Amino acid sequence: MQIIYLPATIRTLVFDIDLTLYDSRPYYDNQHELLITRLAEHLNVTVAEAETAVTQIRTDYAQQHGGRSLSLGNAFVQLGVPIAINAQWRAALFQPEAYLLRDEKLIATMKRLSNKYLIAAVTNNATIIGVRTLNALGVADYFAPVIGLDISDVSKPDIRPFQMVCTAHGIALSEAVSIGDRMAVDIELPLQHGMGGILVESLADIYRLPAILL
Ligand SMILES: [Mg+2]
Repeated sequence: MQIIYLPATIRTLVFDIDLTLYDSRPYYDNQHELLITRLAEHLNVTVAEAETAVTQIRTDYAQQHGGRSLSLGNAFVQLGVPIAINAQWRAALFQPEAYLLRDEKLIATMKRLSNKYLIAAVTNNATIIGVRTLNALGVADYFAPVIGLDISDVSKPDIRPFQMVCTAHGIALSEAVSIGDRMAVDIELPLQHGMGGILVESLADIYRLPAILL
């Protein structure tokens, strides 16, 4: 875990969901596979061609932006697939319940954190998939709001979904902390806007948050 910065007053913890609150690589990889297959259909090319096109865009982006990774949603935008369509594909295709189990340690963690903080989620996924993921893990009741691609109409890194959470909670960005698994997607931009940032490197890091934040 890398605790990059914590504000003096913290009211809200804003979590990323995918690969932050669960560590199922098979589920994450299946999401990628389903989206690339759907993209191939849409572009009327083979799956291999669609994968190559996405990889190329992401490689070019990294080269031009000091090695930063580009979200899949933003790579799809460059291929002519708007965020709204991306969200619709995700909502129709993904099956979090097929991969994820109730996580008692995560439930205990969120229960403890919620005694002191408001808890929200910002995800580069469809909102309904975010909610179903939290539900499968057993923690949906602790998260409000859950802001997905279809609500914010942008893919992180973008401050808008974080702003939406803070507006909903009636707090300033400088009173919130972004917690996620990708520096360029979840952490860098929130830091530039005065938010705190914690980069998690494993699910064990999430379980350790009460010891750090309480
Ligand atoms: Mg993530």
